[in-house]
Amino acid sequence: MNRISHWVDGKVLEGTSGRSGVVWNPATGEQQAAVDFASVAEVDQAVAIAKAAFPAWRSTNLSRRAEVMFNLRELVDANRKEIASLISKEHGKVLGDALGEVARGLENIEFACGIPNLLKGGYSEQASTGVNVYSLKQPLGVVAGITPFNFPGMVPMWMFANALACGNTFILKPSEKDPSASMLLGELLKQAGMPDGCFNVVNGDKVAVDRILEHPDIAAVSFVGSTPIARYIYETGTKNGKRVQALGGAKNHMLVLPDADLDMAADAAVSAAYGSAGERCMAISVVLASEAIADQLVDKIKQRIPSIKVGPASEPDNEMGPLITGEHRDKVAGYLSGAEAEGAKLVVDGREGAPEGGFFLKPSLIDGAKPGMACYDDEIFGPVLTVTRISGYQEGLELINNNPYGNGTAIYTRDGGAARQFEFDVQVGMVGINVPIPVPVSYYSFGGWKASLFGDTHMYGPEGVNFYTKTKVVTSRWPDPRTSSVDLGFPQNR
Ligand code: NAD
Repeated sequence: MNRISHWVDGKVLEGTSGRSGVVWNPATGEQQAAVDFASVAEVDQAVAIAKAAFPAWRSTNLSRRAEVMFNLRELVDANRKEIASLISKEHGKVLGDALGEVARGLENIEFACGIPNLLKGGYSEQASTGVNVYSLKQPLGVVAGITPFNFPGMVPMWMFANALACGNTFILKPSEKDPSASMLLGELLKQAGMPDGCFNVVNGDKVAVDRILEHPDIAAVSFVGSTPIARYIYETGTKNGKRVQALGGAKNHMLVLPDADLDMAADAAVSAAYGSAGERCMAISVVLASEAIADQLVDKIKQRIPSIKVGPASEPDNEMGPLITGEHRDKVAGYLSGAEAEGAKLVVDGREGAPEGGFFLKPSLIDGAKPGMACYDDEIFGPVLTVTRISGYQEGLELINNNPYGNGTAIYTRDGGAARQFEFDVQVGMVGINVPIPVPVSYYSFGGWKASLFGDTHMYGPEGVNFYTKTKVVTSRWPDPRTSSVDLGFPQNR
């Protein structure tokens, strides 16, 4: 049995806890590897190594830090296929989708290549007579990232690229379901010239996470995952004095107004709902269809579903792979029976004709979903699209704003005024105008509102640099006998 251990101090560290988890092959339903679960002592060992590596790395000049990021950029680019294949094998998403994930992760390394510019502070000459004031951005120390199963390559890159470039050292606790991409990224960082001990991977479960949250030498924690765990990470981490950004789950609505291009809206809804088997935090899971066009739109979506090729990632024609585990597949399938029992209409039942052997479910479409039904209220995180019929813009907006999540949303319309009003009104962090999955480019920042994010800072981009640095302001005067006298009053500038 293939065994996946930890990556500590620039090499593989075999786990000694005696505990491990199953890494499934979701396309066959068989176990393909065992992943070591770190003990408290193993997390402590990794943190001690990262702490020892910090002084030299934070003292490394910006030019060299940027050079390591440029080297890493070349290595990730050259190894796109290898990283994507590992992702496909353990997560199940098809290769084209995994390559897209690597490309979006790479953008974050490219952003971090600009670290000398990003860390520039402010400078004010003559703030008072003979006094200059300037600000510095300094790294925090050892920081940690805890990541979900659905983007095993991209989400770690969201975090460690900026964290390391800012001069921190890093502990990554990837999802135990697909840990291999993180291990390969550790090797690539070493090849790029990152000193040993600066980037470490501890694989594991709640034991490792809880130790990270308690460890006195970890200054900050970035988390991406489901809302209940995000809330727990935020509350526990901040209680222990850490800076925390914890991104949670989602329920993303797409509002389709009567004037929208309905073919474009149907293409977008199908792509955004079923891509990656719906296991994306920015997936569209609810279409809000204005009554005037609802029948037409449902019909257009339904017509597109049969041509989606579902099967293992190993076959290049396939467009949608399996779900992550059998347990998750069964949970998602449960929403289909539940929806019918609650009075919604199952227009396409993805249980029918699903490939056998792995954790497959074909795309499903539910019409007539309403608040109060589990298929509308819960984050299903599978290839299930629900349609809610609305009278028009105002009802659609209220549904979105009353939803506890606020990660992503999209509006489909040709009316610029309506789109502008939506952008102004909607209580959601990332908004698409005729764009179904509005994941911000790496030089903006990613983050939802409400139960989709706990903390104040969005992830990556400029907010990522702020999260991984502390600002220091220096007020300085050089001795000048002309300005020196005893003055017991409070310093004033005028
Ligand atoms: P998850 O919350 O189950 O796990 C995320 C991480 O937390 C993993 O590393 C896991 O090992 C750890 N974890 C799980 N249970 C824990 C516990 N009880 N105590 C401590 N640590 C625990 O999430 P997942 O199933 O891996 O990922 C899917 C979820 O992530 C979905 O809800 C999705 O919306 C969300 N997600 C959000 C974003 C975003 O940017 N907002 C991005 C991707 C995924």
